Amino acid sequence: MISGENCGIIKQIMIVKIKRFFEKALLEIFVDKYNCIICDRELQEESRLGLCPQCLGEMTFIGEKICKKCGRLQLNEADYCLTCQNNLRYFDFARSCVAYDDKAKEIVRGLKFGHRKYFGKYVSNFLIDKYAQCFADIEIDYIIPVPLTKKRQAERGYNQAQAIAQEFAEHYGLEIKTDIVAKVKQNKEQAKLTGNEREKNVFEVYGVIKPEEVKDKKILIVDDVMTTGSTVSEIARILIKAKAKNVYALTFASTNYKITGESLEDDKVDNEN
Ligand SMILES: [Zn+2]
Ligand SMILES: [Zn+2]
Repeated sequence: MISGENCGIIKQIMIVKIKRFFEKALLEIFVDKYNCIICDRELQEESRLGLCPQCLGEMTFIGEKICKKCGRLQLNEADYCLTCQNNLRYFDFARSCVAYDDKAKEIVRGLKFGHRKYFGKYVSNFLIDKYAQCFADIEIDYIIPVPLTKKRQAERGYNQAQAIAQEFAEHYGLEIKTDIVAKVKQNKEQAKLTGNEREKNVFEVYGVIKPEEVKDKKILIVDDVMTTGSTVSEIARILIKAKAKNVYALTFASTNYKITGESLEDDKVDNEN
């Protein structure tokens, strides 16, 4: 039999235990905890790029050694990569933040196929830094995130190019316009095609909806990944046709330019919009 006194003690112990449990739970909820968005390692403090030092150290930030046109890492001393030497490029120039290697791929995959829309705010910070380096003296009128077809956007719930552009645009006070260009046809997966096939595959896949808002404008196209640059070039082509003054592109990542032509088999679905 438990005496009345013992009953009181047990009650008190229970109250203390419950109190501790809730205090701990509240701490878990309200004390900021940050984890690396790639490896989930706990971080000491919030990282503006969302990454732990290890993952960050494994990314290749694109510096000066690039093709002057498409901005991809250039492996030789030439000013332009073979793709830009041999193809008409309708954009003025394109730049990207990092090489599309394993860590960048994980971020893009999470954003595109893992419902990790919030990765966008971290990728925005990569774009903010690159923009400061490469676009500081250009007065961009507005940003166009590479559009998806209505069907694809409905399936994903958002457009990843828009998700990465959002905080970047706010940072620089730039407007994002999503009603200027539309993706009017679902093309084949770009990643399965060669460079030449890619150009044909994107031809007339996009359409300018409001040409009156394009005339004389300096437009920045934003996307997550650039491989051969044919998507960006095609959007630039229709914008220039609609009398845009200049078209530039800024992407989070770009594939390494390969000297032996465009071998793209390692991209698989990653570059599919
Ligand atoms: Zn990490
Ligand atoms: Zn190039």
